Parts: sequence; C-alpha cells; structure tokens
Amino acid sequence: MPHNHTLLELSKKLRSRDISALELCTHFLDRIEGDTKLNAFITSDTERALQQARVADDALNSGSASPLTGLPIAHKDIFCTKGLKTSCGSRMLDNFISPYDATVVERLAKEGVITLGKTNMDEFAMGSSNETSWYGPVANPWDTSRVAGGSSGGSAAAVAARLVPAATGTDTGGSIRQPAALCGLTGLKPSYGRVSRYGIVAFASSLDQAGPIAQTAADAALLFDAMAGFDPRDSTSLDKKFEAASSSLEKPLKGLKIGLPNEFFDSGVDSDVGAAVQAAVARLCELGASAVNIALPNSAAAIPCYYVIAPAEASSNLARFDGVRYGYRTNDPVDLTDLYERSRAEGFGAEVKRRIMIGTYALSSGYYDAYYLKAQKIRRLIATDFDRAFAQCDVIAGPTTPTTAFKIGEKMDNPVSMYLNDIFTSSVNLAGLPALSIPVGFSGSGLPIGMQLIGPYLDEAKLLNVGHCYQQTTDWHRHVPGEFA
Ligand code: GLN
Repeated sequence: MPHNHTLLELSKKLRSRDISALELCTHFLDRIEGDTKLNAFITSDTERALQQARVADDALNSGSASPLTGLPIAHKDIFCTKGLKTSCGSRMLDNFISPYDATVVERLAKEGVITLGKTNMDEFAMGSSNETSWYGPVANPWDTSRVAGGSSGGSAAAVAARLVPAATGTDTGGSIRQPAALCGLTGLKPSYGRVSRYGIVAFASSLDQAGPIAQTAADAALLFDAMAGFDPRDSTSLDKKFEAASSSLEKPLKGLKIGLPNEFFDSGVDSDVGAAVQAAVARLCELGASAVNIALPNSAAAIPCYYVIAPAEASSNLARFDGVRYGYRTNDPVDLTDLYERSRAEGFGAEVKRRIMIGTYALSSGYYDAYYLKAQKIRRLIATDFDRAFAQCDVIAGPTTPTTAFKIGEKMDNPVSMYLNDIFTSSVNLAGLPALSIPVGFSGSGLPIGMQLIGPYLDEAKLLNVGHCYQQTTDWHRHVPGEFA
C-alpha cells in the first residue's frame, strides 16, 4: 500500500507513473478522514489538495517535475497557510485565516509538494505532550492511551500512523525531536538561522526553528534541503550557501567520533531507553565510528535556563493578541480594558497564561537581573560546553527523552515533571545547534525509543549522514503500529 512507503519511494513511483499524484493524494486524504482515534489534524484541505495534485500530475507528465513534485505532506498548524485556518492550537486563533504563506510552506509548494492539512499541536507550541491544545490531546498511534509527545504531536502521530508520509514541525525546546522519539520517527531540528521563521507564529524567537518529521533520515534530508536557505524576510536567517544534505547521506562513517556525555546517561533515564541508545552507539561503532566520553557540565541548568528565557520571549510575542487586530474577541466588552482582559483570559489556555506570567515576572524591572539576565549568562555557559565537546568529537549521542510515551493526563497537574521531558533537548536550542532524533528500538512494552544526535553549528548534513547509515543497517524506522499498517 502506498502509505507504507517513504517519500523517496513515493517520488520514484510518481516519476515512473506507477501511481498518479491524484491517486496518492486521495489515498492519504481517505486515511486522514477515516481516522477517529488520534486527533492528529485540526484542518484538512481536500479541495485544494486535489487541485495541487492535478497540477503536480501535469508537471510529472510533462517532465518538468522536481523530486518533490506530487508528494503529499501536512504542516503543523503553527505555519501560516494562505486562505486556510492557522490556529496554532489556540482558541485565540481559532478564527484566523492567514492572508499569506510561511516561507517554509511557500518553498515546499514551489517544489510541487501537496498540503493535505494542518496538524494538531500544543497551544502556541507550549508543551511536551500535545495535551495543551484547544482542540484536545493527540493520541500516540503505538498506544492510544498515551501521549504522542509535543508540541508537534499531531505531525508525529500522523506520520507514525501513515496518515501522511511526512510532516513539518517546529522546535523551540524539543518539539520536533521529542514527538519523533515517542512515535518512532526521524525528526530534524536545524541550526538556528537555517530555516526561515517568516510566517511561523512566534513562541520564543531566539529558539524557534522549523524542520521535518519523517520516516527516515533520507526523507528528512529531502525536505530539509527544500525548506532551508536564506530568506530576506527573516532578519535572523543566515545568508550563506550550503551543499544539499541529501548529497552526503552515503558518506562512510569510518573515523567518526561520537561523544557520549555522562550527564545524558545518568539515573534519570529509563533502563530500556538507556540500553537501546547504547546498542545504537555500538552499531555505529561497527560501522566505523568510535565513542569517546565527554562532559557537558552545565546540562542540569538547561531546564531552569530555558524555562526563564522561553516564557520571557513568549510573554513579549504574545502581547500582540489583544482582541483588537485579529484572533479571538470577547463578547460585549464594557470598555477597552475589559476587551483586552477578557479576550486574553478567554482566548488563552492555562499553560499559555502560566508562561505569560512567568515571562512577565522574569522581565519585570525588579527581577530582570536575577532571572532573565542570569539565564542569558547560563545560556552562554551551555553553548561553551558544546564548543568544548566538539573539540573532542564530531557528533554527540544520547537519549532524546528520558522515558518512552507516558499516559495522557499523567503529567498535566505537575508542570515541573512535564518540563523535565525537555532535559536533553532544550540545551540544543539554547546553543542554536542542529540535532536529529532517530528511532533505535522499542521498550519492553512496545513503545518506540529515540536517540538524539547533536552536531556542531550548521552541520545538519553530518547528522543526516549518520542517521542514514544507521538506518541502512537497521529497520526500526520501518515499524508501523499494527492498527495503522
Ligand atoms: N516542551 C517545551 C516547551 O513547552 C518545548 C516546546 C517546543 O519546542 N515548542 O516549551
């Protein structure tokens, strides 16, 4: 069945005309429509998708197609899509129809990629489990009583259940890698500045990056190459040319040095997770790599540092939602203050309000030095740890998350335990580095386990190369949850 194929396999079938873009599109739309268990989508866009598929078929027939032409994907509902609802998982934007496309959406569309719909996500991308969405939680296809991970949980669940062959996500503190790990997928968080943030609803602007969630590293490379690149509309976008990551996937791993930070393998990690990651490192060593122990001494400070900086930036970014310009507006306000207050009180959910309060507090004049400025200094120490580590190794490996997927509801009453899911991922965003999560096995109870590979700044090609070589000799990425196979 076409849904069990990777993007690259589907691309071949499209080009050889074994299948038409229209057939492929209809097949996946039917799967999306037919799903009643996951809540992975906020919006699906049948008419437009079919129209795009017809255009793709014309290009394929006339020989003017790119390798991506006719491939269907879904976008996280944080990406602005022209003429289509862009809710960011929030009641605040439930009525927002974007007047323009995000650069990521525009670039992929230009290559002929078809948008099947918009995926569910934590409200304003704040969460580690996709339970803070105004549209309800997303279930994990491997066990629907468990979370899919967040905040790009809809994208991950949709790909894991093969409702789409791949999807986009964003990652501020782990939101691509963590749901990829919990759903058995490959997720790439690119270096800060590689992918344009234009048209992505802002959460924490110095940390946000967009990237692909796919079945394989090769598919992730295909999407990443199309998404990335300089964009004058994003002032933090890097104006530099790069070789396509897809062109170095096959490079032999001989001589590769993998750094193993002690801090990533300590007692907080589930034994199943630790063992699977160690086994994956051993496999990479069989392929010619070697492992060295390294230290990331400021790792423990990453969570407190991230949970000051991210809410501080969020409190500023979310000030624009005032009930006046666009988005949710309360009924019958008595005056302007009442309009602001009730629009925000009713439009935002509990987690978003918590972040706004923490961020506003950390930035207030009396506490700025004690919290925000201090966090910025710690951020520098964390980045320096990575610089030192990369003097000794080419990539750093460890678990993506300390545990496998937990039960829906299990951590919702305890924000601190929820925040601790980001322990291995948030430091990467603080340092602006690229990182890849790949599936490396299953727990005793059959839940997927992810390994995170962190690279030096701008070396996503190396990470994808390592991921691809690993996937050439393993088949974890081929497993599909039984119910959805
Ligand atoms: N879990 C983290 C948070 O809630 C990261 C979210 C993200 O990467 N968007 O802030």
